[in-house]
This record gives sequence, structure tokens and C-alpha cells, in this order.
Amino acid sequence: MAQKKKPAAKADDVCKQCKPLRRERRLDCNRKYQRIAKRIDAGLADGSLIPDPDRPIGKWTPPTPYKKMRRDELTKGIWPDFFEYFFRCTACGTRFIIYCDIYHGGGGAWRIAKKSDDV
Ligand SMILES: [Zn+2]
Repeated sequence: MAQKKKPAAKADDVCKQCKPLRRERRLDCNRKYQRIAKRIDAGLADGSLIPDPDRPIGKWTPPTPYKKMRRDELTKGIWPDFFEYFFRCTACGTRFIIYCDIYHGGGGAWRIAKKSDDV
């Protein structure tokens, strides 16, 4: 029996480097945020992720690079009211976004960035 041609299986095309990061996550508690933040930290440290752009572009985000925000958070316990950062996988170019609304307690998310996320 002739097989119908199927579109290429997307699961096999997924970049190995950022595969663990591709699942969307709701960051509705600090524990979940910390888990993804640790992955971001590790990605930045080993060069698999880079900030893109380097400075935050969200209109509500303080103009603080992610690394500085994270350092202030870990060493001084200082958090911005709201933040939004973009990262890019250095292997495949996929961009990711993390955002959190701490001030309103609305939580946040980590996911693959959409075009409409860019301000
Ligand atoms: Zn990738």
C-alpha cells in the first residue's frame, strides 16, 4: 500500500540545544521561576543562550540587563516590579521570552517568543 507523504515530523527537527527549554511554562510561583532562571543562568554561562537584545525592551521593564537583575535578586533580594527578557538559542536562533509581574502577583511565563512580543 502506497504511503501518503507526511510532513516532516517536527519533533525530530527540534534543536537539541534548546529542546529542554521549548516547553511553555507558567511561572506562578517563585519555585517555578527559580527552576527556569537556573536554566537560563546555565545557558548564559555555557554560551547556549544569549540575551537578545542585550538590554530589555519591554516597556515596563527597568533598563537592567538580565544578569544584573538576577545578581541583585540573588544577593540583595531586590526584584523589579515587572520584567521581561528575551534570549536566543545560539544553535538554532529560536528566541525565548521570560516575563513576570511581581508587583501585581500575576506571575509570568517562559515560552518561545512571538513576533508580537517585540515592542
Ligand atoms: Zn536551539
